[in-house]
Amino acid sequence: MDAPMPPPLEPLDETWDRALCVVAHPDDMEFGAAAAVARWTGQGKWVGYTMVTSGEAGIDGMAPDECRTVREAEQVESARIVGVDTVDFLHQPDGVLEYGVPMRRLLAAEVRRHRPDIVITGNFRDTWGGRNLNQADHIAVGKAVLDAVRDAGNRWVFPEQLEGELEPWGGVREVWAFGSPESTHGVDTTDTFDAGVESLKAHAAYIDGLGWENWDPREFLEGMARGTGQRLGTAFAAPFEVFPMGWGD
Ligand SMILES: [Zn+2]
Repeated sequence: MDAPMPPPLEPLDETWDRALCVVAHPDDMEFGAAAAVARWTGQGKWVGYTMVTSGEAGIDGMAPDECRTVREAEQVESARIVGVDTVDFLHQPDGVLEYGVPMRRLLAAEVRRHRPDIVITGNFRDTWGGRNLNQADHIAVGKAVLDAVRDAGNRWVFPEQLEGELEPWGGVREVWAFGSPESTHGVDTTDTFDAGVESLKAHAAYIDGLGWENWDPREFLEGMARGTGQRLGTAFAAPFEVFPMGWGD
């Protein structure tokens, strides 16, 4: 028997100017969301990246100190390919991130600094759907992102950040988690799909280090984008779960 058809997706709101993407690792954006970023930068929107770690524990055959440099360079290049010029690295320890006040403080500062309308993170549900478990860093970051967006708007939370040029920022309308199994929305990535593939390929040392025989980034992304596109009514699409940050939504 065929599995039941997943429900249709609503198009994401695109009436915004600035989005900040906050993820645990270099490569997180590129495994599914980079083509959406290329679409938005192509519309003239500003998109920035914040990497909580530098993915320095991500290549089995490369020690963290060397790996950090390699992966930061790959991330800057993969961002450039999709029109992103701002990539911040917060240098938190890869693989052992903890959800809590220290991470909220770091992320609130990023939100206050960049003043986005939308904050994007990766899936932070326990699974990717089915039995594939999510990774601990992704869950810690996603939860902290939601809290940090609220923290950023409250001048009495992390007030030491406001002693210089930073101001509170309560302007984030929504947080979006791409790749969530609870996704209700999607964005058409048909026209920018190739840029998304190139962006993933920029993580050459990382992909090499995975040691997956004959793994093809294009084929991998196409499989996901096509299934999501069927739910949105487009050739290709990327899926997002939407968390409204205002009251009364
Ligand atoms: Zn990751």
